[in-house]
Amino acid sequence: MSILSINPANGKLIRSYKEDSEKQVSSKIEKVHSAWLKWKDTSFPERAELLRNTSVILLKRKLELATLMAKEMGKPIAPGIAEIEKCAAVCDYYAANGADFLKDETIKTEASKSYVSFQPLGVVLAVMPWNFPFWQLFRFLAPALMAGNGALLKHASNVTGCALAIEEVILEAGFPKDIFHVLVISSKQVKPVIAHPLVKAVTLTGSTEAGKQVAQQAGFNLKKTVLELGGSDPYLVLADADLEQAAEICMQSRLINNGQSCIAAKRFILVKEIEKEFTRIFLEKMQSKVTGDPFDELTDLGPMARIDLRDELYQQVEENIKAGAKCILGGKIPGLKGKHAYYTPTILTGIKKGMPAYEEEIFGPVALIFTAKNEEEAIRIANDSPFGLGAAVFTGNQQHGEELAAKRLNAGSCFVNSLVKSDPRLPFGGINQSGYGRELSSFGIREFVNIKTVYLK
Ligand code: NDP
Repeated sequence: MSILSINPANGKLIRSYKEDSEKQVSSKIEKVHSAWLKWKDTSFPERAELLRNTSVILLKRKLELATLMAKEMGKPIAPGIAEIEKCAAVCDYYAANGADFLKDETIKTEASKSYVSFQPLGVVLAVMPWNFPFWQLFRFLAPALMAGNGALLKHASNVTGCALAIEEVILEAGFPKDIFHVLVISSKQVKPVIAHPLVKAVTLTGSTEAGKQVAQQAGFNLKKTVLELGGSDPYLVLADADLEQAAEICMQSRLINNGQSCIAAKRFILVKEIEKEFTRIFLEKMQSKVTGDPFDELTDLGPMARIDLRDELYQQVEENIKAGAKCILGGKIPGLKGKHAYYTPTILTGIKKGMPAYEEEIFGPVALIFTAKNEEEAIRIANDSPFGLGAAVFTGNQQHGEELAAKRLNAGSCFVNSLVKSDPRLPFGGINQSGYGRELSSFGIREFVNIKTVYLK
């Protein structure tokens, strides 16, 4: 069987990769485990130095790596470069802070000495998606390596080139030859990897469905999981919000990575007083974005990552229109020649309970507008979702915004007058169908460690 990398801008085959055989997969798992037996005894300064090397190499190769993303999943070059820079930053962050996050913690008891020591688990499997092919992996890999673990990557099939480039970067940085390996396998071959006795834990970023299957297999084998799944982030716009600023931030958040982001704003919940004015400004902003060739500097949005994902999005929009939503922008596949995965910014208004979009995740440049009678109803709609990744509220009253963010909105990250974004210094993750566990910050690096109690009488 082969794994295909296809350019979503023109449907052409970039490269076909031969899948690893069962024997090759077992051999990679064993190699990472053997490398880990030595790696776990290295010091924090040694690991930090290699992470800093990684950062330097990423920055040196950023244009080349962004080009690879543009070809494999359609991300324009400028945001591609920004993604690589963020990966370099997360390597530097854990190089600088990892040792501190994992230093022993003394706890006073009746013992002569008692403390907590954070020790690596071993080989961790990462199952990663195509939307941020480098960032999704590095935000796991930098803390995992700093904590002294080994890692295996099963990347999304359409970004195998990116996966192999990451393997190269890690080698070039001077990490031990086998501490990190890419498994070139389809999702069907993941189950035995999870079951392998030398694989100690699994992290997955992707759809809720994939998360459930991986969690089930890991649970059966009693292996820890961290799951960062879908989201349908609500952005509430209150009557006293600065509408120009709110509309700009809402547009940016909805269109980040062509709408293919778990923490993109997906549901815009407007209180009645500002519904018309906000929608007018928001529509102008959404309309002004240029969809086109990811290699053209004037392009804001490239194609979507795969043709099947674009077709699915088109169908989702059609079904919601049939169910009563009104399409005030986009909604059509651009009539370009040949195969492609383009889809232009789209706005659906009048979303109500019972329509598919009320509950589903919409993974593309489609904004859903909900109208609420008042603030209370806006909060109720925001929380009436199976997901719980991020949420934002826009208001002229910062203190009131904080109250809603801290106490009333149900999500892993709640922001006021800002778009929800990941930051190496802040924990990131969801609740409910958006998954569990946290990435980044001190919380992220402690997910894949044995929190060991040491007690001396
Ligand atoms: P998937 O969740 O199917 O893919 C993500 C990763 O999981 C890929 O590496 C995939 O491999 C792997 N995978 C899928 N199913 C399994 C399984 N049963 N066991 C083990 N690994 C599995 O995403 P899709 O590419 O199909 O996108 C579909 C939807 O998922 C999107 O429309 C969006 O809603 C959501 N999504 C969410 C993301 C996020 O950031 N939270 C990122 C990407 C998608 P392979 O590619 O080989 O199938």
